[in-house]
Amino acid sequence: MSDCLFCKIISGEIPSDKVYEDDTVLAFRDIEPQAPVHVLVIPKVHIPAANAVTAENSAVVAHIFEVIAKIAADLGVQDGFRVITNCGASAGQTVHHLHFHLLAGKDMQALLA
Ligand code: 5GP
Ligand code: ZN
Repeated sequence: MSDCLFCKIISGEIPSDKVYEDDTVLAFRDIEPQAPVHVLVIPKVHIPAANAVTAENSAVVAHIFEVIAKIAADLGVQDGFRVITNCGASAGQTVHHLHFHLLAGKDMQALLA
């Protein structure tokens, strides 16, 4: 999707602070971190949101969770982190390319909202 911010990050058109990349997944630090560790993990294929996950594309979502476990271990937060995905503008989604927020490093109770 040519007008998608995260597709532009995947293509390199917009720079990002990458923490992990493979053939199907990219992870990079959020530009406005809400916690000491705030990483966004995204599929390289453009999936708009969690409500567009189907039998045809869910393998990449399973792989994303493997990657999340690896990143959490690499960053030393494997024993305490939160994964969030916002689906739809009313739920706070501002970038309409499926992404998972990996948050850690401070009291997660304070991040419930
Ligand atoms: P959402 O609100 O859609 O769940 O999350 C979108 C996230 O993308 C926000 O946390 C926001 O800070 C982050 N974000 C927006 N633009 C950029 C950008 O250009 N670079 C990076 N690294 N993160 C961004
Ligand atoms: Zn996209």
